[in-house]
Amino acid sequence: MEEGHHTFVESENPQAIGLEDESRFSRDVDVRVEVDKRGKNYYIQQIVHTKARFECDRCLEPFVKDLDAEYRVVYTSDTEFLELDEDIRYVAPEQSEIDITEDIRETVLLAIPIKLLCKHDCKGLCPHCGANLNVESCTCAEEMIDPRWEALKKLLR
Ligand SMILES: [Zn+2]
Ligand SMILES: [Zn+2]
Repeated sequence: MEEGHHTFVESENPQAIGLEDESRFSRDVDVRVEVDKRGKNYYIQQIVHTKARFECDRCLEPFVKDLDAEYRVVYTSDTEFLELDEDIRYVAPEQSEIDITEDIRETVLLAIPIKLLCKHDCKGLCPHCGANLNVESCTCAEEMIDPRWEALKKLLR
Protein backbone atom coordinates (compact mmCIF):
# COMPACT_ATOMS: atom_id res chain seq x y z
CA MET A 1 0.00 0.00 0.00
CA GLU A 2 1.22 3.46 -0.84
CA GLU A 3 1.90 6.14 1.73
CA GLY A 4 -0.97 8.43 2.59
CA HIS A 5 -4.71 8.22 2.90
CA HIS A 6 -6.87 5.48 1.42
CA THR A 7 -10.61 4.95 1.60
CA PHE A 8 -12.34 1.63 1.03
CA VAL A 9 -16.08 1.23 0.87
CA GLU A 10 -17.60 -2.22 0.81
CA SER A 11 -20.64 -4.25 1.64
CA GLU A 12 -20.10 -7.38 3.66
CA ASN A 13 -22.42 -10.31 3.87
CA PRO A 14 -23.11 -10.73 7.60
CA GLN A 15 -22.63 -14.50 7.51
CA ALA A 16 -19.34 -14.12 5.66
CA ILE A 17 -17.92 -12.01 8.48
CA GLY A 18 -19.11 -14.34 11.22
CA LEU A 19 -22.42 -12.75 12.21
CA GLU A 20 -24.08 -16.10 12.15
CA ASP A 21 -27.42 -15.26 13.67
CA GLU A 22 -29.26 -15.15 10.35
CA SER A 23 -32.62 -14.22 11.72
CA ARG A 24 -31.05 -11.15 13.32
CA PHE A 25 -28.61 -10.04 10.63
CA SER A 26 -30.39 -10.34 7.32
CA ARG A 27 -28.91 -7.27 5.63
CA ASP A 28 -25.44 -6.47 4.40
CA VAL A 29 -23.05 -4.59 6.64
CA ASP A 30 -21.85 -1.36 5.02
CA VAL A 31 -18.25 -0.77 5.88
CA ARG A 32 -16.14 2.29 5.21
CA VAL A 33 -12.48 1.91 6.03
CA GLU A 34 -10.14 4.88 6.21
CA VAL A 35 -6.48 3.99 6.25
CA ASP A 36 -3.57 6.33 6.84
CA LYS A 37 -0.32 4.65 6.01
CA ARG A 38 2.66 6.38 7.54
CA GLY A 39 5.87 4.43 7.26
CA LYS A 40 5.45 1.15 9.08
CA ASN A 41 2.17 2.19 10.65
CA TYR A 42 -1.39 1.80 9.41
CA TYR A 43 -3.94 3.97 11.20
CA ILE A 44 -7.27 2.38 10.48
CA GLN A 45 -10.73 3.76 11.13
CA GLN A 46 -13.74 1.58 10.44
CA ILE A 47 -17.25 2.92 10.20
CA VAL A 48 -19.93 0.27 10.05
CA HIS A 49 -23.63 0.52 9.41
CA THR A 50 -26.27 -2.16 9.24
CA LYS A 51 -29.74 -3.01 10.46
CA ALA A 52 -30.71 -5.95 12.61
CA ARG A 53 -33.84 -7.50 14.07
CA PHE A 54 -34.33 -7.60 17.80
CA GLU A 55 -37.05 -8.30 20.30
CA CYS A 56 -38.06 -5.45 22.58
CA ASP A 57 -37.05 -6.01 26.21
CA ARG A 58 -40.32 -4.48 27.42
CA CYS A 59 -43.09 -5.47 25.01
CA LEU A 60 -41.35 -8.48 23.34
CA GLU A 61 -42.36 -7.26 19.86
CA PRO A 62 -39.81 -7.70 17.08
CA PHE A 63 -38.33 -4.53 15.63
CA VAL A 64 -35.55 -3.49 13.28
CA LYS A 65 -32.82 -1.24 14.57
CA ASP A 66 -30.07 0.70 12.80
CA LEU A 67 -26.63 -0.16 14.08
CA ASP A 68 -23.84 2.35 13.63
CA ALA A 69 -20.40 2.18 15.08
CA GLU A 70 -16.87 3.36 14.63
CA TYR A 71 -13.68 1.61 15.54
CA ARG A 72 -10.05 2.66 15.41
CA VAL A 73 -7.05 0.42 15.42
CA VAL A 74 -3.40 0.76 14.53
CA TYR A 75 -1.38 -1.93 12.79
CA THR A 76 2.35 -1.69 12.65
CA SER A 77 5.39 -3.67 11.61
CA ASP A 78 7.54 -1.55 13.94
CA THR A 79 8.09 -3.67 17.07
CA GLU A 80 9.22 -0.68 19.15
CA PHE A 81 6.04 1.23 18.35
CA LEU A 82 4.06 -1.89 19.25
CA GLU A 83 5.12 -1.67 22.89
CA LEU A 84 3.58 1.77 23.35
CA ASP A 85 -0.02 0.66 23.57
CA GLU A 86 -1.99 -2.55 23.67
CA ASP A 87 -4.40 -1.30 21.02
CA ILE A 88 -1.61 -1.48 18.50
CA ARG A 89 -1.32 -4.74 16.59
CA TYR A 90 1.51 -6.32 14.76
CA VAL A 91 1.54 -6.89 11.04
CA ALA A 92 4.52 -8.58 9.39
CA PRO A 93 6.44 -6.27 7.03
CA GLU A 94 6.07 -8.71 4.14
CA GLN A 95 2.33 -9.09 4.70
CA SER A 96 0.42 -7.54 1.81
CA GLU A 97 -3.06 -7.61 3.34
CA ILE A 98 -4.55 -6.94 6.73
CA ASP A 99 -7.62 -8.98 7.55
CA ILE A 100 -10.03 -6.75 9.44
CA THR A 101 -12.99 -9.13 9.26
CA GLU A 102 -12.86 -9.87 12.96
CA ASP A 103 -12.67 -6.15 13.79
CA ILE A 104 -15.75 -5.48 11.66
CA ARG A 105 -17.66 -8.29 13.35
CA GLU A 106 -16.79 -7.00 16.82
CA THR A 107 -17.63 -3.43 15.90
CA VAL A 108 -21.10 -4.52 14.79
CA LEU A 109 -21.62 -6.50 18.02
CA LEU A 110 -20.48 -3.52 20.11
CA ALA A 111 -23.08 -1.36 18.38
CA ILE A 112 -25.89 -3.44 19.89
CA PRO A 113 -27.18 -1.59 22.95
CA ILE A 114 -27.53 -3.44 26.25
CA LYS A 115 -31.13 -2.31 26.60
CA LEU A 116 -33.17 -3.08 23.50
CA LEU A 117 -36.36 -1.09 23.21
CA CYS A 118 -38.63 -0.86 20.15
CA LYS A 119 -38.96 2.86 20.99
CA HIS A 120 -37.56 4.84 23.88
CA ASP A 121 -40.97 5.27 25.52
CA CYS A 122 -42.23 1.73 24.99
CA LYS A 123 -45.01 1.14 27.51
CA GLY A 124 -44.35 -2.59 27.68
CA LEU A 125 -46.75 -5.31 28.73
CA CYS A 126 -49.22 -5.18 31.57
CA PRO A 127 -47.78 -7.42 34.28
CA HIS A 128 -51.29 -8.68 35.11
CA CYS A 129 -53.08 -9.40 31.84
CA GLY A 130 -50.15 -9.28 29.42
CA ALA A 131 -51.73 -6.65 27.16
CA ASN A 132 -49.27 -4.75 24.98
CA LEU A 133 -49.85 -1.27 26.37
CA ASN A 134 -48.47 0.36 23.20
CA VAL A 135 -51.46 -0.88 21.21
CA GLU A 136 -54.22 -1.38 23.75
CA SER A 137 -55.13 -0.30 27.21
CA CYS A 138 -56.38 -2.53 29.98
CA THR A 139 -58.18 -1.81 33.18
CA CYS A 140 -55.86 -3.74 35.50
CA ALA A 141 -54.35 -0.59 37.00
CA GLU A 142 -57.80 0.80 37.88
CA GLU A 143 -59.02 -2.45 39.34
CA MET A 144 -56.00 -2.93 41.53
CA ILE A 145 -56.61 -1.56 44.97
CA ASP A 146 -53.60 -0.72 47.02
CA PRO A 147 -53.96 -2.56 50.36
CA ARG A 148 -52.52 0.47 52.19
CA TRP A 149 -55.43 2.57 50.96
CA GLU A 150 -57.85 -0.04 52.24
CA ALA A 151 -56.26 0.16 55.70
CA LEU A 152 -56.45 3.94 55.64
CA LYS A 153 -60.10 3.84 54.60
CA LYS A 154 -60.87 1.64 57.58
CA LEU A 155 -59.11 4.04 59.91
CA LEU A 156 -61.09 6.97 58.59
CA ARG A 157 -64.39 5.20 58.93
ZN1 LIG B 1 -41.45 -2.36 23.03
ZN1 LIG C 1 -53.73 -5.47 32.26
